[in-house]
Amino acid sequence: MEVREGAVTIEVPEARHGASEGSGDGVFYNPVQELNRDITEAVLRTVADDCETYLDAMTASGIRAVRAADAGYAVTGCDVDSDAVGLARSNLEQNGFDGEVHHRNVNAHMHEHRHDVVDLDPFGTPIPFADAAFRSGREYVCVTATDTAPLCGAHFESGVRSYGAVPRNTEFHAEMGLRVLLSALVRTAARYDVAATPVLSHVSSHYVRTYLRVDGGARAADARIGDLGYVDHCQRCLWREAERTLIADPTTTCPNCGQSTWTAGPLWLGPAHDAAFVERVAANVTESFGTAAKARDLLATIAGELDEPTHYDQHRLYKRWGEPNIAMDDFLDLLREVGFEASRTHYGGTTFKTDADVTEIADAVR
Ligand SMILES: [Zn+2]
Repeated sequence: MEVREGAVTIEVPEARHGASEGSGDGVFYNPVQELNRDITEAVLRTVADDCETYLDAMTASGIRAVRAADAGYAVTGCDVDSDAVGLARSNLEQNGFDGEVHHRNVNAHMHEHRHDVVDLDPFGTPIPFADAAFRSGREYVCVTATDTAPLCGAHFESGVRSYGAVPRNTEFHAEMGLRVLLSALVRTAARYDVAATPVLSHVSSHYVRTYLRVDGGARAADARIGDLGYVDHCQRCLWREAERTLIADPTTTCPNCGQSTWTAGPLWLGPAHDAAFVERVAANVTESFGTAAKARDLLATIAGELDEPTHYDQHRLYKRWGEPNIAMDDFLDLLREVGFEASRTHYGGTTFKTDADVTEIADAVR
């Protein structure tokens, strides 16, 4: 069957009967990831002055490679499945693009070849490909993770094993997942004296997506390590505290309500995006994108998010207080009126970030 995405049309196998998102049966082409691919193309157009070559590390149908070629890149694909290799080659050719598609283990390829942009879009965890990706990527490494349950602490042991960090199933679970993933990626890059800096990240439809700029140098890598640390969290009153350190010194009792607390980490506590970069990406979202309106909304919200390592859910707070919630804009205005910063977040319609702590929030809005 033919699929049109952005300005390209590709051939993909008919979805297997009963195949659904999360089952792994839709690996050749996952329609749920169109937003992810639209934003990727906008990012590629944004960094085109610095980047010429692109590796679609999990090629499958070749949709990412074809769209990168349409954005002007010299593209390379890799897949261990010979049907996928044939399909990707054919899709590039049908759209009038050159490009190499190797029938090969992509880790072996990445250890031998460098590309300006390396894109990891696996089913499940990207960690088995992360080491090679940071050896291969010259300018940017883009990473999707679909294993959100391990990342956000819902599958605790699996998260600890895969990511070398302790995740906790908090009410800001989507951001927990993002910051566990970023922590693992930053530490992986640092092993090769590479500084990985997230310039855009989002959590949408049960996947985490992040774009990291890579810079060489031990000192720069040390600086990224300095943005790792721990978050102590109270499940009862939603108090939390973040500390940049690799030697955890947790606060075990909530200073606000006396409940014993949870500690997660090491997490990435630095910025998950660069607002100026995100605005440039939004300007490169074109009308040919099927998700153009959604992508622009998402990017505008991300660009406006405060640089805070966790977020709150307004409804959770009011439930805890036993009071009806109020309109989000009014709520944020109340915080700003008493001098705090406050922003919406892309994690949900009732989520927000602020520099106020949980007691200060209550004093400001109740
Ligand atoms: Zn508490």
